[in-house]
Amino acid sequence: MQLTSLVTEIKNIGGERAKLLASLNIHTVGDLVEYFPRDYDDRTDVLTVAELKAGDSATFRAKVAANTEVMRAKRLVIAKTLLSDGTGNIEAVWYNQPYMKNNLKQGQLYLFTGKITEKFNRLQVESPEFEPLKPNGEPISGGRIVPIYTTTKKLSQKILRQLIKSVLEDVTPQLAEFIPEKIRRQYRLCERSFAINNIHFPQNDESFFMARRRLVFEELFLLQTKLLQLKGNIREKTACFKMKDADYSPMLNRLSFDLTGAQRRTIEEIIKDFKSGLCMNRLIQGDVGCGKTAVAMIAAYLTVKNGAQTALMAPTDVLALQHYKGFSEIFEPMGIKCALLTSSLKKKEKQAVYLALENGDIDIVIGTHALIQDAVSFKRLGLVITDEQHRFGVRQREILTEKGEGVHTLVMTATPIPRTLALILYGDLDISVIDELPPGRQEITTYAMHTAYYPRIYGFIRHEAEAGRQIYIICPMIEENEKMQLKAVTEYAAQLREGALFGLRVELLHGKMSNDEKQTIMEEFAKGNIDVLVSTTVIEVGINVPNATVMVIENADRFGLSALHQLRGRVGRGSEKSYCILVSDSKGKTALERLKTMCSTNDGFVISEKDLKLRGPGDFFGTRQHGLPEMKIANLYKDIDILKEVQQASVELYRGDPELDMEENENLRRKITEIFESGSEKICL
Ligand code: ADP
Ligand code: MG
Repeated sequence: MQLTSLVTEIKNIGGERAKLLASLNIHTVGDLVEYFPRDYDDRTDVLTVAELKAGDSATFRAKVAANTEVMRAKRLVIAKTLLSDGTGNIEAVWYNQPYMKNNLKQGQLYLFTGKITEKFNRLQVESPEFEPLKPNGEPISGGRIVPIYTTTKKLSQKILRQLIKSVLEDVTPQLAEFIPEKIRRQYRLCERSFAINNIHFPQNDESFFMARRRLVFEELFLLQTKLLQLKGNIREKTACFKMKDADYSPMLNRLSFDLTGAQRRTIEEIIKDFKSGLCMNRLIQGDVGCGKTAVAMIAAYLTVKNGAQTALMAPTDVLALQHYKGFSEIFEPMGIKCALLTSSLKKKEKQAVYLALENGDIDIVIGTHALIQDAVSFKRLGLVITDEQHRFGVRQREILTEKGEGVHTLVMTATPIPRTLALILYGDLDISVIDELPPGRQEITTYAMHTAYYPRIYGFIRHEAEAGRQIYIICPMIEENEKMQLKAVTEYAAQLREGALFGLRVELLHGKMSNDEKQTIMEEFAKGNIDVLVSTTVIEVGINVPNATVMVIENADRFGLSALHQLRGRVGRGSEKSYCILVSDSKGKTALERLKTMCSTNDGFVISEKDLKLRGPGDFFGTRQHGLPEMKIANLYKDIDILKEVQQASVELYRGDPELDMEENENLRRKITEIFESGSEKICL
């Protein structure tokens, strides 16, 4: 048997069991041995029968003292026998498991584990697990700490446990080491085969801790090493010029509002970094609408004032355009030059921007992925800002910062992530949290509605539009291909224009439009010349039109919670009461739960927690959103100390042998290739 063999090659595994295993994502022998327990039952505490008490879950040693009887009572088949150890007797019962008669041998000593109850004044143990012991009471195999797996109804703990145990006996010699010896010694990591065996069947507490530490280290180390390779560099605190002038009061006069306390605190943190003489590497986390843009503007302002350029990268054309407009409005009157760079500019326009960036005529450039093209170079790049960063590939932000020397970076996101995940993805970075919304924000009232309510929904839209306010209608992708989707939304918009919303100014925005067309539509909407904007999800992130008060989301069940929250954040930005209407006929449990959550809270933090829960255990840490593999054993909340060691180890390794070409690293290289075979291109920051 090989680790790569399919489970069907294991003795006693037929099609049925293979299917059950597949439902646990176990396909090969290797998957099976790496299917780690979710918990353990400590059965080192073995009681005598006399010590058993009703209500306990206990482990005790006893002989089967009688023949196992099988009885029928109504629809139940009851198997019953008597257990005894010389200190007392206890009855054992199993329901609907008549084969117990053959499984238990009279006179044989077993170890039983189960819940003790009291029936008619007699102690009983119900459906206990059991395993035979040697006559001297010693276990036939392994220690007494028993693994508990996540499993399905039809595949019992016992069967899964036995399966893993027997497979391990077979393949342990094949559990090859791939962490280089030097690292293993330096970080005191036990060998792989010891770790795999002891994670399933720990001999004692100490071996369990050693095994777990090794496997957590291994999991994070593989990931971290792969990420370093993807990034192609090591981000370290590098020296950088110290900013002298940190007075941003001229900027404040140009903003139409006072900063919130949280914004001010974040700016102070940025200024401290700017003055430190080391490169800033800072993440700003703040719920939608908390005002991250103003913070970015002030950071850009200070950078320009100190003689360097700023680049702001946004994930979509629409968002880049909006930022460009906002920045130009504030900065151009102060004599600070802004430019837009997206791939849909004409060639000539692009070249003009390239030239102006190179000779320093542009102070702040705002764009999309177009910013990372080779043709882009700066006279003196001082600050890179990425907005809604989780949309970018790992390498992309690095490429941008490499276009200058001693570049500060600022990453902005509305999606909270655990500190450990931030560390894994961004390396050593500092985090500022904007935990305060600007004053005067109205709560957004959210309703979930069936399509049967369309007449009322359209009536409400008309009512709001006639009161001078604006409405978004979001249509997610429901057709298989973009062409059909485009047709569907185009028809929908036309239908509304001529039917239910007749007389209102209804326009369409979609991803296939040219930059200019998108810009025109967004500008018209921002000016109030469009009442209802029907849009595909290009609108999702960042858009800011305070007069928009209604967000209608069609097929709302198509979106995850975070996306819904982002979308809803497009309204409630002005002084008028705002509404979000989630339209869905879905009866799916998760979908309904999501809609319910949306209706009950506006708190981004609560929503992201719920989101993690609803995504299920495999994606508990939100790693999938970033394209990372599921964590099999590492706990991203608790294993931060191991992570720090891993980071140190992978950086050292990367310094000495970035491509893992050396012989001692060959196994590691192979393992990384195997694990990240496909999908690493999807890893995003
Ligand atoms: P996000 O953090 O989601 O990117 P924005 O930066 O787009 O949010 O800001 C949302 C809205 O709040 C904008 O209209 C912005 O002008 C406004 N805003 C930002 N800061 C303040 C503040 N301190 N007081 C009032 N309004 C503010
Ligand atoms: Mg934003």
